[in-house]
Amino acid sequence: MATPEITIYGAGIFGLSIAFEILKRGQTVEIIEINKPGFGSSGGVLGALAPHTPDNWNEKKQFQFESLIKQDNFWNEVKSIGGKDAQYCRFGRISPLLDERAIQLSAERTANAKSLWKGLASWETLDKLDKNWEIPSPTGLYSFDTLSAQLNPKKACDALLSAVKAMGAKITIDPKYESKNDNLEVWATGYYGLQKLSGDLEKSIGDGVKGQAALLALDRKNYPQLFVDGIHIIPQENNSVAIGSTSEITWQHENTDEKLDRMIEKIKKICPALSNSNVINVWSGIRPRAKGRSPLIGPHPNKKNVFIANGGFKIGIGLAPKIAEITADFLLENINHIPKKFTPNYLLSIK
Ligand SMILES: Cc1cc2nc3c(=O)[nH]c(=O)nc-3n(C[C@H](O)[C@H](O)[C@H](O)COP(=O)(O)OP(=O)(O)OC[C@H]3O[C@@H](n4cnc5c(N)ncnc54)[C@H](O)[C@@H]3O)c2cc1C
Repeated sequence: MATPEITIYGAGIFGLSIAFEILKRGQTVEIIEINKPGFGSSGGVLGALAPHTPDNWNEKKQFQFESLIKQDNFWNEVKSIGGKDAQYCRFGRISPLLDERAIQLSAERTANAKSLWKGLASWETLDKLDKNWEIPSPTGLYSFDTLSAQLNPKKACDALLSAVKAMGAKITIDPKYESKNDNLEVWATGYYGLQKLSGDLEKSIGDGVKGQAALLALDRKNYPQLFVDGIHIIPQENNSVAIGSTSEITWQHENTDEKLDRMIEKIKKICPALSNSNVINVWSGIRPRAKGRSPLIGPHPNKKNVFIANGGFKIGIGLAPKIAEITADFLLENINHIPKKFTPNYLLSIK
């Protein structure tokens, strides 16, 4: 095999999606992973692909919107090349409207969605829910957006891995790997990478935020996801519903703990359909959060052959197709569509 032209460090959703896009454009790729593909924050159970609200629009919201719209084609293509299914589907998201202000905002968002979401999805106010999938609302009303979708994150990583292998990617699993060549490199190394980068640059440019999630036994396939009290409730395939996540800036260890138990109890009380559901699986991971909370995408400030793809934070899975596209545009076509506020140089320039 000829020496691959681009080396990607990290086989999470960012590294694998970027590899997929680069391979599609005809370049060869080696992926180096120190643990195993999907080991980091990407290999979990939740998989909400939920939009920012259609108001106070900005570059990040537009970027996320474009990425969410790409998801359907993206996962179809991944499946057709690699034969594995990420279990992507789009049934929208319901959330209770808590007070008069929320009702008014929901009406404004209905109008905004028409222009900002370009007729590709809508935002509505509902006055009743399917009785098999109810949650309480103090006003009796709910918002419902048709843009929100979902997938199974672990299966999404498996599907991407299968597709990139089918396209000829070289995969190297080596905990002690050290770069041996002058290849163009993409560092998609998640939370660990943010810590290393902060050390290299002698400035904190991001850190981790722990999250815990669980899978409960219940068949609500084809029902919309729910979002209540900051918790996502996502019907998955195989008779299960994912719930999550905690958001923890400090932690004693990286495993699940009583914070997740409390969240499960809370959701069982809020959502009657889940009240008797058994816990099938629990999971925790460390989200990579760049300072400023935007993704961190662009050339390394000091290393000319290195490109950083990091900072997915809470929406990294939703952002991955668009991150892959702009990374391949930049590295292969010399086209720069990277929002300035996402770049490492911008992050270094702010206090
Ligand atoms: C509980 C929880 C729930 C979440 N829910 C959602 C959700 O519903 N929707 C959503 O969009 N996002 C969600 N996220 C966020 C999302 O998972 C992350 O934004 C995304 O996974 C980040 O992907 P990544 O590829 O950048 O990092 P990671 O998945 O962490 O991958 C980094 C990889 O790099 C490897 N690595 C590290 N150092 C090196 C090195 N030196 N060389 C080679 N490899 C290295 C690691 O082993 C790891 O496999 C959630 C996160 C958590 C924790």
